[in-house]
Amino acid sequence: MNTKYIFVTGGVTSSLGKGIISASLAKLLKARGFSVTIQKLDPYINIDPGTLNPYEHGECYVTEDGAETDLDLGHYERFTNVRTSQANNITTGRIYQAVIEKERRGDYLGETVQVIPHITDEIKYRIKILGNNGDYDFVITEIGGTVGDIESLPYIEAVRQMRWEMGSNCVVIHLTYVPFLAAAGELKTKPTQHSVKTMLEQGVQPDIIVCRTERPLNESIRHKIALFCNVDSKCVIESIDAKSIYEVPVLMREEELDVQVLNKMKIPIETSPDLIKWEEFLFKLKNPKTEVNIGLIGKYVELKDAYKSIIEAFIHAGTSIQCKVNLKMIHSESVTDETIEEKLKNLNGILVAPGFGERGIEGKIKSIKYAREHKIPFLGICLGMQCAVVEFGRNVLGYSDAHSTEMNPKTSYPVIDIMKEQKTICTKGGTMRLGAYPCKIKENTKIYDVYQLIDIKERHRHRYEFNNKYKDAYQQAGMIASGINPKDNLVEIVEIEDHPWFVGVQFHPEYGSTVANPHPIFVSFVNAANNHNLSK
Ligand code: GLN
Repeated sequence: MNTKYIFVTGGVTSSLGKGIISASLAKLLKARGFSVTIQKLDPYINIDPGTLNPYEHGECYVTEDGAETDLDLGHYERFTNVRTSQANNITTGRIYQAVIEKERRGDYLGETVQVIPHITDEIKYRIKILGNNGDYDFVITEIGGTVGDIESLPYIEAVRQMRWEMGSNCVVIHLTYVPFLAAAGELKTKPTQHSVKTMLEQGVQPDIIVCRTERPLNESIRHKIALFCNVDSKCVIESIDAKSIYEVPVLMREEELDVQVLNKMKIPIETSPDLIKWEEFLFKLKNPKTEVNIGLIGKYVELKDAYKSIIEAFIHAGTSIQCKVNLKMIHSESVTDETIEEKLKNLNGILVAPGFGERGIEGKIKSIKYAREHKIPFLGICLGMQCAVVEFGRNVLGYSDAHSTEMNPKTSYPVIDIMKEQKTICTKGGTMRLGAYPCKIKENTKIYDVYQLIDIKERHRHRYEFNNKYKDAYQQAGMIASGINPKDNLVEIVEIEDHPWFVGVQFHPEYGSTVANPHPIFVSFVNAANNHNLSK
């Protein structure tokens, strides 16, 4: 089958969940036996979201090939269990950079370089790249932002051109919002009509309209939207608020979103989606047998999206053992000698989150000391692992001012230090240790029990590393390096022998966790928390 292209645009407002709709459609098509990939086009000028503050854009998700990407790519992987790559997230910045580089090279010699056709050609090229070698039956392309934004105009124009070129090999799904007006006591279709009109002005007629709503759409609303927006009423799809994002594929199956897409593309429907495993997951999610409280100590706790992959990894892991994880978000700055007992005493497990910079560091280190001394299961991720090393240095080895040189360049014990290769880098974007690196695990360690493997590969995003000068001292005192990068001998995992479950990882296991494959570190950590007796 020739690769088919599905576009998902958004109208009325942002944050309607285009990423979840795209991921759910991909899941349904995969469950019918098709191969699918999802791509996100982001209309901002940054080359990638790597330099964006989590307050602006939530978590930065890292792919195996080392791209710093939009957090929606995390949803794509978690839903479909298919890895994404550099090619799956493109920004306006990257498009313009490519076009300007070509112009300087002389590729357009003599021509005036313009939005149409040069920018739109580059956009189309980036979309088709994923379909070119026949790996996928479907490429789903989510266009970030909302139609009508100045920034998204070239993208909608590229969609218009691709539909013209490809006919029924191309389908456009438009996600809108149908608000319920309490005073009038009814759902309102006008915002949807306006947003479809905006698309029509730009030359694109959506084939399918997905309506995000808090109340069910009745037949007359569906007919009205169909009539005003020139679509079949079967192609008006309700997307009602769900308790969990993982219910959305099942809701979309009921609404037959995948059936309408296949019909539009004239693909015969020979199978039905196999969601047995997915439904088992949903059953376990809704029927937990146990419950644990895990504290997430970080500095962006008021922002749900900043720790998206960690939150989802806990859902996958907890569900796999039918344990509900109540994640308590604790601001690291609020953990002080006075508050620590109150804040941490009811926790079955403590996670110290990844992060950058000095703010809240001492609260993280104090929380780790508490977890170590009270034998509470502890997981440190990236900066969390580095803080565990600092804490052990200060409080067990007696290195009074031990620190990472990121926080204190003058420390007399630089137990976490910048890598040699990083010292000469001055630019910010894409210059960290990024993407998947191999790691060798030591046998007879906690982490070996977790993976049951010697060779693993996990994704990284950091500049600083465990300083090998101190490795022997740490190991003799009981913090062992149980995972090492075989190529450059970097310490990737530390653990404390005399503790029920104390693990720090320099990499980000949360990026790799999916519904189909919960990450073993999270599963084992939740299990340990589940076994941790609070009365001890
Ligand atoms: N700031 C630390 C470093 O750059 C940790 C980064 C992280 O937690 N992702 O090494």
